[in-house]
Amino acid sequence: MEEGLLVRKIREGTVIDHIPAGRALNVLKILGLTGREGLTIAVVMNVPSRKLGVKDIVKVEKRFLEPSEVDKIALIAPSATINIIRDFQVASKRRVEPPAVVTGILRCPNPNCVTNSEREPVTPRFVRVSLSPLKLKCAYCEETLSEAEIVDQLVSPYG
Ligand SMILES: [Zn+2]
Repeated sequence: MEEGLLVRKIREGTVIDHIPAGRALNVLKILGLTGREGLTIAVVMNVPSRKLGVKDIVKVEKRFLEPSEVDKIALIAPSATINIIRDFQVASKRRVEPPAVVTGILRCPNPNCVTNSEREPVTPRFVRVSLSPLKLKCAYCEETLSEAEIVDQLVSPYG
């Protein structure tokens, strides 16, 4: 593995691999990691990848992911794989999958959508209409969200 040359192995924690190039810092944001937690974090960007051309990798020692964090990572890095490391070995490896229905994580950009109604707001719900590039459609007003808009919403400080 080429990345082994760049970053030493971790004893236990999570390696998020096959992140689209340029999204590693967004993944850290989603995990709420700033580097001040005292955890060893390795971020490798623009690593050559057979599958993606170039990719980013994030390794976090002593940190495992909540299902809601996995869902959010799937939305901004649909190609990512999540490796759980224990005793320097890959204990489990799985590919993320953007959920077919996304409830409550994203906002509908249509101001007239019932999910944005001031009086009786309905929980936003989006249906996945395309995987690559990722595209979601509001279940109520059919407004679509592009992959770029999804990333923006998930990493914006107001999101
Ligand atoms: Zn809508």
